[in-house]
Order: sequence, then C-alpha cells, then structure tokens
Amino acid sequence: PVLDQVLATRILDVPDYPQPGVVFKDITPLLGDPAAFGAVVGAMAEQVRASGATRVAGLEARGFILAAPVALAAGVGFVPVRKAGKLPRATFREDYQLEYGTATIEVHRDAFEPGERVMIVDDILATGGTAVAAAKLVRDAGAVPVGLSVLMELGFLAGRDRFAASVPEAGIHTL
Ligand code: 5GP
Repeated sequence: PVLDQVLATRILDVPDYPQPGVVFKDITPLLGDPAAFGAVVGAMAEQVRASGATRVAGLEARGFILAAPVALAAGVGFVPVRKAGKLPRATFREDYQLEYGTATIEVHRDAFEPGERVMIVDDILATGGTAVAAAKLVRDAGAVPVGLSVLMELGFLAGRDRFAASVPEAGIHTL
C-alpha cells in the first residue's frame, strides 16, 4: 500500500517530452522524497535477495540512481552498464535500435564472475530494447541475467513480451 501510493503520487506524467506526442514519466519527485525512495529501494533489494543475484547491473543514467542503493541494501556489488565510450578498460558492446537511429551500451569484460546471477535494474521498461541489450551484455560477460527490476513498465509498448522472448531465463519485476 505504501509503495502503491508512492508510485501513484511521486511519478509525474510530462506531456510532449522529449518530443510532441510522448508522455514522459518523471521520477524526480520520487527521488526527492526519502520515504518514497527508501520504499522503492527496499522493495527492489528484496527482489535481488529473492532471486539469488550476487550482482546488480544498473543502466545509465536513471538506472544508476536506483541500482546503486539497491545493490548496497541487498549486500551485493554494483556494475555500471554504460553508454559507449565511457568505460576505461576492455568492454563488450551491444548495439540496439532506438525510435530514431541506434544506441550502443557497454560493460567491462571482467565485470562479473563466471556464471554469476545478475539482476538488471532500470527506472522504466518501455519498448524493452535497452533491457534486452543489457541482458545480452551480461551473457557476453559470462554471467546469467536472472531478473529485470524496474519501477514501471509502459504496457502499451509491450517491452515485457519483447524481453521475455529474448531473455526467457530472467524474471520481470515491476513495482
Ligand atoms: P526502452 O529501451 O525500453 O524503449 O526504453 C527504456 C529506457 O528509456 C530506460 O533506460 C528509461 O530510462 C528510458 N525511458 C523511456 N521512456 C521513459 C519515460 O517515460 N520516463 C523515464 N524516466 N525514462 C524513460
């Protein structure tokens, strides 16, 4: 119930951002409210514990804000999945489609232990393209994506179906 209230009141709809016709979910009110932020982090950390994940992979940039405290609360390490060109050592790369053009994300080659269970954390699941690319990076780096944890999914974009089809080994957790 606390969590339902938090999600209903602390995530704002912003019409026509970043472009006309898009309704953007603004999570900054949630981040600014320590009770709301804490409730979300606690719920996600519980998902990490329940999944047996030993690492949390956060997606740049809003995913970082959630994934780092979730990892600490669950007592596991944090791994940044970054946009291309930001990580200093050898990486795996994954290209994926955006609405216009493509994007590339990367992870350090030695970010995970072999066979390690990994929870992927982001703020919003939209088309699922970002989450699928992140799961591929986890696999490339020799680990197992056991779950995807997000605050919210935009159901009409069917990201859940896309993710489930490409990453059947991972559960999908939406607050
Ligand atoms: P997807 O790859 O699933 O289409 O898009 C998900 C990514 O875009 C996430 O990393 C998320 O941060 C961002 N994103 C897409 N739509 C929204 C939105 O309405 N609000 C927020 N906060 N992020 C969004």
